[in-house]
Amino acid sequence: MSELSNNNIIYVVGIGPGDVSMMTGEALEALRTSDTIIGYPVYLKLVEELTEGKELISTPMKQEVERCRIAYEEAQRGKKVAVVSSGDAGIYGMASLMYELLPEYPGIGLSVVAGITAANSGAAVLGAPLSGDFAVISMSDLLTPFELIERRLRAAAGADMVIVLYNPSSHKRKDYLAKACEIIQDKVPADRACGYVKNIGREGQEAVALSFSELHDAEVDMFTTVYIGNSMSYIDDGKMITRRGYSK
Ligand code: SAH
Repeated sequence: MSELSNNNIIYVVGIGPGDVSMMTGEALEALRTSDTIIGYPVYLKLVEELTEGKELISTPMKQEVERCRIAYEEAQRGKKVAVVSSGDAGIYGMASLMYELLPEYPGIGLSVVAGITAANSGAAVLGAPLSGDFAVISMSDLLTPFELIERRLRAAAGADMVIVLYNPSSHKRKDYLAKACEIIQDKVPADRACGYVKNIGREGQEAVALSFSELHDAEVDMFTTVYIGNSMSYIDDGKMITRRGYSK
């Protein structure tokens, strides 16, 4: 058993893609037992129905370090704190940063609560695109140099992996999906099965299966997850499926 009492543990909670029905029981319980819930405003809004009567602290995007420090300071004051991230908190979320700061706050512990990440919630909407090996690559170059993103895209496409793209577009990076397609176009045929899902588990959910050449010109936004198939992927009746190779 840990020497820490429950009061000194900060829960880092993945809330899934959006709808409360897609949160795990463990995540629901972590929020239920917390006094203070900290997160980006959009995420707090998603879990609104679970936060009544609790102290809510939101900090804008790009103030992640600040947000984590507030969580530690609240926990030091004796509050039961939950930090929320969309999807899984350990996948392009706050969990690793919370661990990086942990040594500065002796007496406080962390418990990461797994959530359904966009790759698999979106896959379920789209069909069954992830039945073999796949790579998740974020197109955001805020924290990762673009050359490295490029190298990872080429490597994954060269190894015939299904590729899931997070952050395929933003206000400043409207053309990043087209760029990604151009980087791997020598490795992926134009008729390769691809797809994208917008607003998974949220209002306006939309899934589209399309070819690699159509994907190049698709209009996606920051709430879209993109799937680029491998040589076993195909489209049937609007669904994107990757064969596992069973003989039938
Ligand atoms: N921690 C999150 C990922 C954060 S990165 C997770 O595990 O899901 C942000 C990117 O995730 C977005 O740009 C988008 O590509 C994807 N994403 C997150 N939630 C989504 C949703 N509800 N619908 C579609 N894509 C989503």
